[in-house]
Amino acid sequence: MFWERVSEEIYLFTSDRYALVNAVAILTREGIVVVDALPFPDEAQQIARFLQMRTGLDIHSLILTHYHMDHVYGMFAFPDYPNVIAHELCRQKLLEVGQASLEEARQADPIFESVTLRIPTLTFDTGEFFVNAGDKTFRLLHLPGHTPDNIGVFFEQQEVLITGDAVMAIPIIVDGDWAQEMETLRRIKALSPETIVQGHGEVILRGEIQVVLDRYISYLECVYEQAAKTLKAGRDRQSIREISLETCGLERVPLGIASHRLHTANILSIYDKLKAQ
Ligand SMILES: [Zn+2]
Repeated sequence: MFWERVSEEIYLFTSDRYALVNAVAILTREGIVVVDALPFPDEAQQIARFLQMRTGLDIHSLILTHYHMDHVYGMFAFPDYPNVIAHELCRQKLLEVGQASLEEARQADPIFESVTLRIPTLTFDTGEFFVNAGDKTFRLLHLPGHTPDNIGVFFEQQEVLITGDAVMAIPIIVDGDWAQEMETLRRIKALSPETIVQGHGEVILRGEIQVVLDRYISYLECVYEQAAKTLKAGRDRQSIREISLETCGLERVPLGIASHRLHTANILSIYDKLKAQ
């Protein structure tokens, strides 16, 4: 794991063992607001210790952007704080599949034995949800598409948007919905934040936000076109593996897991949906 400061009050923690997934801590006078917590127990405990030693502050709020394990598991490292805030669909998803997928993760890697699943306790399902901490305001907005439950956390005073996986180095929609994700990316573009902390990969700064979002939007347009084209030409699923990431305007990014595999899964998911229609 490595960490950096996005601003005086914002710390960013990135896993170098799992797809450059990010967790964020924002310092306020009333305590620390933590957004997501990385997958591996030792990384999460390191974050908890780091924050305690460096700031001496208590935790104010724990927020989950969505139910995927690489954002959720580390939350166990903050056992003294009973409340976890998320979208209602995140709570439902974790109740539904959380324990089973944790068991699976433990089978694959015993390191997950020490994780206990944190189920969200404070949720919202319509409109927006505000977290006020000292003189800072965090506006939680529903940004579905990557998953149905994904939310963003907009730190109003600094116009920093923490997007969860609504924005990531390769947009992934296999567990979500293509059209919703397109709408979400357009909404974020219109919101025009100063800084975006994406779910995976590096921080996106002011001057590059519109360009990067446009690139992600046209990437997803291309994914759709490629799926439709393959189906129309009567080519089989196998042929989709030959469509490169570069064809759709993205470079291979060092996510640690195969970029090409994620990209292929995106096209296949659209192909299967179109075929079923
Ligand atoms: Zn995710």
